[in-house]
Amino acid sequence: MAIPKIILSIAAFAVSAAALAAQAAKPVKYVFLFIGDGMSIPQRMTAEELARINTGKGLAINSMPHQALTTTRSANSFITDSAASGTAIACGSKTNNGMIGMDPKGGRLKSVAEVARDSGRKVGILTSVTLNHATPAAFYGHNRSRGNYYDLGLDLVESGFDFFGGGGIAECDNKKAKSYKGDIYEIAEGRGYTVVRKDMKALAALKPGCGKVIATGADGALMYNLDAPDSPRIADFTKKAIELLDNERGFFIMVEGGKIDWMCHANDAATVMAEVADFDNAVKVALEFARKNPRDTLVVVTGDHETGGLTMGFAGTAYNSYIDRLNAQKRSREAFNSASKKLAGGGKDIEFEDVIPLLSESFGFVFDEDSESPLALSEAERGELEKAFGRWKKDVSKGALSLAAAKILNNKAGLAWTSDAHTALPVETSAQGAGAEVFSGTIDNTDIAKILKELVR
Ligand SMILES: [Zn+2]
Repeated sequence: MAIPKIILSIAAFAVSAAALAAQAAKPVKYVFLFIGDGMSIPQRMTAEELARINTGKGLAINSMPHQALTTTRSANSFITDSAASGTAIACGSKTNNGMIGMDPKGGRLKSVAEVARDSGRKVGILTSVTLNHATPAAFYGHNRSRGNYYDLGLDLVESGFDFFGGGGIAECDNKKAKSYKGDIYEIAEGRGYTVVRKDMKALAALKPGCGKVIATGADGALMYNLDAPDSPRIADFTKKAIELLDNERGFFIMVEGGKIDWMCHANDAATVMAEVADFDNAVKVALEFARKNPRDTLVVVTGDHETGGLTMGFAGTAYNSYIDRLNAQKRSREAFNSASKKLAGGGKDIEFEDVIPLLSESFGFVFDEDSESPLALSEAERGELEKAFGRWKKDVSKGALSLAAAKILNNKAGLAWTSDAHTALPVETSAQGAGAEVFSGTIDNTDIAKILKELVR
């Protein structure tokens, strides 16, 4: 078939055009790479609409001057996972789903962060999830499986990067790991890292020149912005990373908004949009720095793949959308699940009536068919919730009830989901500052690393 071949050759040309343009570019002193995990155009544009409704202003990530549509497939699948896409964005090569910093045959790849380190720059790796989760690990780790958290933790220390910040280190003391050598935090301290765990005051007190730092705001991932906006945020870590890493040779800082993906898997739009806004706050910190150093700073924002098949429309609301209705949700599905589990604590035989107050408080539902409120539940919607309640009661540790509730609220807002997994929808890469014009047209996720490696030499 001739047509696919032509499309392929056009794509190949676009790839080399971006890489060639990068080769002609001069190094940039300060390079930021922001990755919204699970964030593609629907997540960005729904969050944009909600931000405009709530604040009269759109998001910083959608206001950057250069844009490139970015394809995401992995070496072995049209639909990528975060390990393969992280590796593509970090190292510039395709690999199989599940693999970190290696090609499909197990050959070691070099990431843009490693190139930056080797050229004498300071390097920061930040994420709202755990520091050895797939996306951040792709910048320092080399492993056949993203699930080998302990080994990736060892790679983290081995990288010698200057600043790790955000969530904690997963399985930091996994004695069952074949490579077990002790607690990762202790190994890091032995290698000269200052480790600051869940102590934002101690982190604030650190001064430039303090040496290498691992700073965590939680043992696992940071909390959801919707549930705990005053808890440590990824923007706080971004601010501190800039302060500690600014130096004559420049820096490379990667910041991941990792929980956008998690709540897309959960089909919980309100929590997703709060996470996108949280991620946007971190990007704003970098853009503020760029305003002071306009000729020396590049800010790049991308996603690693789309999650959930989010659609900005719903058959039941036709041409109308009511994105503002997401504001009625006050808890993430995760927080609702723990609160509802408590209600059923000790094997209590609870009735549907018992969860109505929690459902109202969490999702804004009005349980009165005669009410004029747009969040009043129809008989059919109440029926859906009652059925879900029945399923949930069989296993209260699972989220059947919150899933049904989120679906009803999302549909009322004019949104729908088609999957609880990733999709192959391309993502958007945005860029601003020195060298940003290279990010244009259609590129592949591997081009991001190819371009950035030239700029951090
Ligand atoms: Zn995912």
